Amino acid sequence: MIHRLDDATVERIAAGEVVERPASVVKELVENSVDADASRVEVSVEAGGTERIEVRDDGVGIPADDLELAVAEHATSKIGDIDDLEAGVGTLGFRGEALHAIGAVSRLTVRSRPRGADRGAELRVAGGEVVAREPVGCPEGTTVVVEDLFYNVPARRKYLKAEATEFSHVNAVVSGYALASPGVAVSLTHDGRETFATEGRGDRRSAVMSVYGREVAANMVPVEGTDEDGPLAAVGGLVSHPETNRATRDYVNVFVNGRWVTASAVRDAVVEAYGRQLASDRYPFAVLDVEVDPATVDVNVHPRKLEVRFADEDGMARQVRDAVESALLAEGLIRTTAPRGRSKADQTEIAPEPSGGEREEERGADRATEARHRDAGANAVTGSDAATGPETTTESDEADSGADTPAWHAGARSTGNGGQSADDTDTRRDTDRRFRERPAQTTFDGSDPGDHAFDTLPSMRVLGQLHDTYVVAETDDGLVLIDQHAADERVNFERLRERFADGVTTQTLAEPVEVSLTAKEAALVEPASEALARLGFSATLADDRTLRVSTVPALLADAAGPELVRDLVDDFADGDPERTVERAAEDLLGDLACYPSVKGNTSLTEGSVTDLLAALNACENPYACPHGRPVVVEVGREELENRFERDYPGHGG
Ligand code: ADP
Ligand code: MG
Repeated sequence: MIHRLDDATVERIAAGEVVERPASVVKELVENSVDADASRVEVSVEAGGTERIEVRDDGVGIPADDLELAVAEHATSKIGDIDDLEAGVGTLGFRGEALHAIGAVSRLTVRSRPRGADRGAELRVAGGEVVAREPVGCPEGTTVVVEDLFYNVPARRKYLKAEATEFSHVNAVVSGYALASPGVAVSLTHDGRETFATEGRGDRRSAVMSVYGREVAANMVPVEGTDEDGPLAAVGGLVSHPETNRATRDYVNVFVNGRWVTASAVRDAVVEAYGRQLASDRYPFAVLDVEVDPATVDVNVHPRKLEVRFADEDGMARQVRDAVESALLAEGLIRTTAPRGRSKADQTEIAPEPSGGEREEERGADRATEARHRDAGANAVTGSDAATGPETTTESDEADSGADTPAWHAGARSTGNGGQSADDTDTRRDTDRRFRERPAQTTFDGSDPGDHAFDTLPSMRVLGQLHDTYVVAETDDGLVLIDQHAADERVNFERLRERFADGVTTQTLAEPVEVSLTAKEAALVEPASEALARLGFSATLADDRTLRVSTVPALLADAAGPELVRDLVDDFADGDPERTVERAAEDLLGDLACYPSVKGNTSLTEGSVTDLLAALNACENPYACPHGRPVVVEVGREELENRFERDYPGHGG
């Protein structure tokens, strides 16, 4: 029975925009189907969901007389009042605003026939107005069609991204629910082509295979619980071998009481369990169920953001880490139980005003990517593996010395630290020590002070290193911090760009290499292919889930495995529709620049601070990494004086 919520309840429900993009519509509709006890949910979208979205289920259906209420504001059949909300909500939806919000910004059709009813009914809404209601013949269950999203809100429509990007988000949402509910057969179709379909027989691994492919499914190990005490009643699921990883954390799926959520605290705990077996910018695959007393977790935080909040976050993290660690240890996949320490460093943000106008501009570069990388950067600051440099050492050495071994054989390990031995850790420690013992007072470019343009670094005197992550230096104008990792990326980027500038020489592989893909990656191959070709990769889909790479840029042929192309394709999800192939290729170059095995030897583990700074200084733009993140942060003399209140009247000059 659908009814309107009373005002008091409405006030207690976190309000907010539900509909942001096609994926948010898909999320709401799939949740409704799951709540309706469906055993089959078919999602099909056109043009990334911007033109048409259809979600069809075989659930309980909506009685004809309730259709109008279903699309009304604050009307739901899922909770009665505040008390229900406080006891913890068992259904995915409860706000009663999704269909209403969707109907207001699209052409919405809801067609439904309740189980056991002899016929169905259809309701049509356009721009928030009910335009028709009539009986129709249809199978049991509910079909919702959303056409022309934002047709009446041009400002919103304008902000939609490229179809490939929108579809990528849709794909992530449907994948999430398919993995959350292995007992429901979930399928996704894009422009008439099936992206994936799960069987719905209740088997997690089989769902993983449908969504992420055979290779990933074969490399998942079961998580079977924890002996640690804490708020969680249970932890279980599947996590991947450390070598089965990606550059995005999107494949770490967390379900809290069956609800697919973002829960970054849980994600972090999962990643921490891998310790050093995973490079700091790589993430595993995980499908993790977490059971918790509904009263101790707040699902009402934000209607769209999928965040949840735990009353006892530390206890939760301990349990998750232990459960995942135990699973990996049981398979002999990790050697040490030492987690990556979580330092508080990433919470202390130093954000002084930039002193040069040019720098301001740099900073304004690609916001989205910047945020993404800052996110990744925050993670990189944790623990002592922060500078990613150390991880690079062995990789690059291998790549360089491996000139006589075929670099592109399938299974070549090029990412992550799956096979890293304890020795590597020792090497890293040695290197760290070597660096610290280096005389701290190095003059860099001190010969010609005062004579620098904006695109070169000011002369500086290196004082030392902070958190194994930043070079700290003194300049005439104040204090300067240089993010080593970002500096490295900038140097690599300009080096690569130069080498690619006069057209690439491609190398045809003796045997094309096949790489297995997730459903999301497979969908990105087509839109990415032109830009990839520009860089010298020719990669096509051999079948739904297999990428065949037949040529690579000659200058990278010895440096990386085929996973490289997969990562590049993955990053394509962030593209915007206006982006030219030229721009896209440039962005891919930026991603290449931070790819561990392609990195040059500018890392501090391989060179010195002076080498890194000299290379950075030679860059056209030393002030921002290729993704727009700042490389250099300056705290001016004046700011220091202000902060120490040196102009305080009683202080005396
Ligand atoms: P909520 O899910 O928060 O209740 P919605 O606006 O998403 O709000 O849906 C309103 C109501 O319409 C639901 O409470 C439910 O009764 C009904 N409904 C929506 N979609 C379906 C569906 N696929 N199957 C059955 N009932 C549905
Ligand atoms: Mg709903």
